[in-house]
Amino acid sequence: MAKRGSAKSPTRKTPKARARKYVYFFGKGKADGNRSMKDQLGGKGAGLAEMTNAGLPVPPGFTIASQVCSIYNRQARIPAAIEREIDEHLKRLEKAAGATLGSADNPLLVSVRSGAKFSMPGMMDTILNLGLNDDAAEGLKRRTGNERFAYDSYRRFVQMFGNVVLEIPKEEFEHEFEGVKKGRRASLDTDLDGRALREVVDRYKGVVQRRAGRPFPQEPREQLTMARDAVFRSWMNPRAREYRRIYHIPDDIGTAVNVQMMVFGNTGERSATGVGFTRNPASGKKEFYGEFLINAQGEDVVAGIRTPQPIRQLAEVMPNAYKQLRDITTRLERHYRDVQDFEFTIQDEQLFMLQTRSGKRTGYAAVVIATDLVAEKLITPKEAILLVDPESLIQLMALGFDPDEWRKIPAATRGLPASPGAASGQVVFSADDAVIWTQRGQPVVLVRRETTPDDIRGMFVSQGILTATGGMTSHAAVVGRQMGRPAVVGAGELEIDERAKRFTVNGKTVKEGDFISFDGLSGEVKIARVASKPSEILQVVAGTLDPKRSDIYQRFDKLLGWADRYRRLEVRANADLPDQAEIAHAFGARGVGLCRTEHMFFGEGRIPIVQRMILANSEADRRKALDELMPLQRQDFYGILKAMNGAPVTIRMIDPPLHEFLPRREELMVEVARLEITDPQSPALAGKRRMLQRVEQLHEFNPMLGHRGVRLGITYPEITEMQTRAIVEAACQLTKEGVKVAPEIMIPLVGDVRELRDQKAVVDRVADETMKQHGVRIKYLVGSMIEVPRGALTAGQIATEAQFFSFGTNDLTQMTYGFSRDDIGKFLRIYQERSILDRDPFTTLDTDGVGAIIRFGVERGRKARPGLKIGICGEHGGDPASIHFFEQVGLDYVSCSPYRVPIARLAAAQAALSVKVGD
Ligand code: ADP
Ligand code: MG
Ligand code: MG
Repeated sequence: MAKRGSAKSPTRKTPKARARKYVYFFGKGKADGNRSMKDQLGGKGAGLAEMTNAGLPVPPGFTIASQVCSIYNRQARIPAAIEREIDEHLKRLEKAAGATLGSADNPLLVSVRSGAKFSMPGMMDTILNLGLNDDAAEGLKRRTGNERFAYDSYRRFVQMFGNVVLEIPKEEFEHEFEGVKKGRRASLDTDLDGRALREVVDRYKGVVQRRAGRPFPQEPREQLTMARDAVFRSWMNPRAREYRRIYHIPDDIGTAVNVQMMVFGNTGERSATGVGFTRNPASGKKEFYGEFLINAQGEDVVAGIRTPQPIRQLAEVMPNAYKQLRDITTRLERHYRDVQDFEFTIQDEQLFMLQTRSGKRTGYAAVVIATDLVAEKLITPKEAILLVDPESLIQLMALGFDPDEWRKIPAATRGLPASPGAASGQVVFSADDAVIWTQRGQPVVLVRRETTPDDIRGMFVSQGILTATGGMTSHAAVVGRQMGRPAVVGAGELEIDERAKRFTVNGKTVKEGDFISFDGLSGEVKIARVASKPSEILQVVAGTLDPKRSDIYQRFDKLLGWADRYRRLEVRANADLPDQAEIAHAFGARGVGLCRTEHMFFGEGRIPIVQRMILANSEADRRKALDELMPLQRQDFYGILKAMNGAPVTIRMIDPPLHEFLPRREELMVEVARLEITDPQSPALAGKRRMLQRVEQLHEFNPMLGHRGVRLGITYPEITEMQTRAIVEAACQLTKEGVKVAPEIMIPLVGDVRELRDQKAVVDRVADETMKQHGVRIKYLVGSMIEVPRGALTAGQIATEAQFFSFGTNDLTQMTYGFSRDDIGKFLRIYQERSILDRDPFTTLDTDGVGAIIRFGVERGRKARPGLKIGICGEHGGDPASIHFFEQVGLDYVSCSPYRVPIARLAAAQAALSVKVGD
């Protein structure tokens, strides 16, 4: 009673919403957050919290949630309540650190680090040593007795702050730094002493005054606010947006900001900074892997300023720290049940962990690692499935060089093998040129001293990336691996002149446009064009390599076998010819979801017959041509049905507008005109004129919406008859040979049940006749493609005739959006840049619109015909994100191109395990 009364009582207020928490502390063995809070803390913040809770040595700090970034970017300011929350956490940090921001004798220095939910390497820069100013630098020097250290830290801070916050180009600072180095005849940054570094700081402050029109900010609290806001703003900078576009990361999630007490790898010879992986991210091999630099800070390791040392050497110079690092990272791998990519700093032989995350890896490494972790009993097969990005499997099917060809050519030089794969192409020296040359259809290799995040697009289009500096964890290496682009980095013998567009290596000069090739697995670079060859997996599938002799094939097969255990969706392939069906079957496709019969018309010697059929003036002439085509089609159907060995084969009746089989109108006009002038008596002329006349008759203003699909079958039923006979005869013959067959005859472009009824009657009549003639009964189905929106909207009616549905999502997308598939290129990019479209709807299904139509069609279809078999045969059938949706709406199968079958198998398993793609 009381309960009810109070619930209805108008005076009762909902309990006052707890003020939302926007700032999360970590330090002294305890954190407010944990690994599951990536949405708020970002990946880096969640990792720092988790490591802190695990009792690992992590410098204390706090994380400002990603949601604050979105607020800031909407309102261009931070609400006062959040500012207060930050102040409180700063106090808490000062207490934990035993130092005070801005204090002259005991200054707290912090790093300001961005970190979104999805890692975006190199996208937003970190600022180190914040809190320094002229007084604090002196204080630091007094406290540590180390002037070099104090001013090395200060010069780094002024440069990073100047660059990231005040947006002064790095080169301005580098120029001054080089000036001081030259003046002192120093070759490395470590050769500069405290006095020299003081001079660097003075010069840097001059740069700031000149370029920013204001003195370098001396007030630490102001420094912190400016740095925080700059990180928030950087979320929207063009290169960050470009990266998100490529990787389908939403624009609205924002980045967190981590403010963390500094520890110092630059106090001298007993300090260092480094990065590493618990396993090799290129090959997947179980080996401790990484690099470090003595007396250095932050990104020195990856920036290629000095050449870092391999991590094993740390065991010699600082054995205790090394052992602790190995212990901690092994623990982290077990804890996260995945390879970890970690960052650390050693200050006076004391180890601090600064980051851990799941390591990005090549598709090759992903398969090796997943199968190894299962073998080591660290994870289950189910978890292994979730560890591999389906899309990355495409890399295992990448090309390699023919070893014999490759061996013949001497290596020009060698670099670090950063990302596997064979790259061969013409040299370009800038990312922009890479894009331009590729658009012209030329394969390019991008050669750079070192890549930067601005190069992303150029890297994406290149065959491979070759750099002169940098280590295995440099930008080029990390991004190359992730994109699946072959990369060789740190090829130090290259002398690159980017302006003159050439490089020399061991006395040889290579100009822009010259061909080079390199092997991303060995690091060898050769000045030649070298043909590449199929990967081991492709060789096994083609039957030229014994699967037992290929370790990677066996792992690949094992992983996909696990995936098959968990997936509900069946996977078929789109295959038009018998050899494609065989490859698809070898990749694990069980059934053909789309066999486009007209593709058979393009086969050797067939086009003239098809043209005769089209040009025929009477039904009798048309039938004559069709009679010639019939045995050819029968032979193809025989091959495909046989390759699929009893699995269903969906054969689509002729679909495209007929003029696609005839020469182009403009070409014919030119030829006719030419013959009229040069050879008016030519016997060919009459034929050409007739062809031109027919082409003009067939000309349509809008062929995609014209005389095609079921409309052809209705107007020329003899085509449907011929195709049915070819299918059924092939099936009868195989049945007699003892081969099982399951043909599914599919009528395209149906928008009205009466269209289907008309064609189904033809198919059933001819099938019946044919079976009688052969004295064999076979089972076949007749169904409908659902690709015209009206077909989906009247699915309930269509299902009364159709024995199956197959969604043709290419046409369905085209007709739902009204975007021509062939013309979307003209505006897609602009749509994406303006965030009107996130993805190309022809690659990844638009679940809101096209998906709604599919959902409706499935529901109505199954209501009218319970258990109706439904699949999808558009390009989306091989796209992991779309597959996730098809799982949700309960389709029976997806069908995709043969090479994407493994991707679809894995994605279908992940979808069944209900994991969001990209998560
Ligand atoms: P990114 O996202 O580019 O990896 P990070 O925020 O991880 O950037 O910072 C880059 C590097 O800066 C770290 O690997 C580490 O070497 C250094 N760094 C960041 N925070 C600190 C800190 N509190 N103390 C010492 N070094 C730090
Ligand atoms: Mg960075
Ligand atoms: Mg980092």
